[in-house]
Amino acid sequence: MDMVEDLINSENCCDLSIISPVYNEQKNLNELYERIKKVLPAHLKWELLLIDDGSRDLTQQVIREICSRDKRVCGIFLSRNYGHQIALTAGYDAAKGRIVISLDGDLQHPPEVIPQILSLWEQGYDIVYARRKIDHKKVGWFKGITSRLFYRIMRKVFRVNLVEDVADFRLMTRKVVEHFLKYRESTRFLRGIVGDLGFKYAIVDYNQDIRRSGETKYNLRKMIGFALNGITSFSNAPLRVSTIIGLIISSFSIIYAAWIMYYKVVYGVVSGLASIMVGIFFIGGVQLISIGILGEYIANIFTEVKRRPLYCISDIVGKEEKDISNRDHRLSGKAYSSRA
Ligand code: UDP
Ligand code: MG
Repeated sequence: MDMVEDLINSENCCDLSIISPVYNEQKNLNELYERIKKVLPAHLKWELLLIDDGSRDLTQQVIREICSRDKRVCGIFLSRNYGHQIALTAGYDAAKGRIVISLDGDLQHPPEVIPQILSLWEQGYDIVYARRKIDHKKVGWFKGITSRLFYRIMRKVFRVNLVEDVADFRLMTRKVVEHFLKYRESTRFLRGIVGDLGFKYAIVDYNQDIRRSGETKYNLRKMIGFALNGITSFSNAPLRVSTIIGLIISSFSIIYAAWIMYYKVVYGVVSGLASIMVGIFFIGGVQLISIGILGEYIANIFTEVKRRPLYCISDIVGKEEKDISNRDHRLSGKAYSSRA
């Protein structure tokens, strides 16, 4: 616990940390910074952490520029592209504020919602989610429907603790963040982790904006991967489903075999290559699905047992080089294997 106390007592500590993962967002960053600056109440001491997830455009340069203009801004450059969820984790690791707000860097999470979020925090909530009202015209019907379906299935079928339709735009108090940081799995599904933590939460609704510039980094393949990770890292239900389907099918085949024997005894003939083929394909399919499900979990175990660091930081700029990063256990190489 000394690490926690250390953090909280540290003189670097500010009231509010805003963290934003960015990947090729050069055109959005300045506006993001300006809009955040405009909405934050003057009495709050805040820091803005921009986590560059291995961008290949001028994002890093833009971050450096903003940092040189404003001492409250800090850029954390990851050594390569690790993905949204890991970049966000790096932000939580580095954030020192008594409250931490995360939002996407593409302006789809409007900073103008922050005052409402803060007022709910003042009412005593530990987590405040900002929930987008999905406007199918704006996000595209495909994304709208699949993301809605995803939350429903996660909750209802797989019983994952998840607040419906909330993305990674939320406030967490230091208390919650410290618990959150103890979850160090490599295959991360942050919304699931935060849902799993419990605590008293509130929700603010907002209208989702369209992406200002650049493209979504979640294509269909990534979305499927994201959904599978979400399910397999929070639910064992698929394993059970395959067992149950297997049981049903094998009992069915026993009844079927009995029926064939009866047929043979009474009528003397049993016909049909077709029925055999159907049976073979069916069973084969079920077996492949079951093996696939097992594989997903084994792959998860495999990545977890390696206990690799979640990410590597190549450079830190601004916020006094993130409050002299080597004083911070989390950002220094030795104590910090990014697994706490
Ligand atoms: N992002 C990231 N690393 C990635 C992909 C995305 O840090 O590999 C950032 C991205 O810059 C944005 C946020 O994560 O700020 C959400 O990504 P995106 O807008 O592509 O997702 P969507 O809103 O379409 O779900
Ligand atoms: Mg987006």
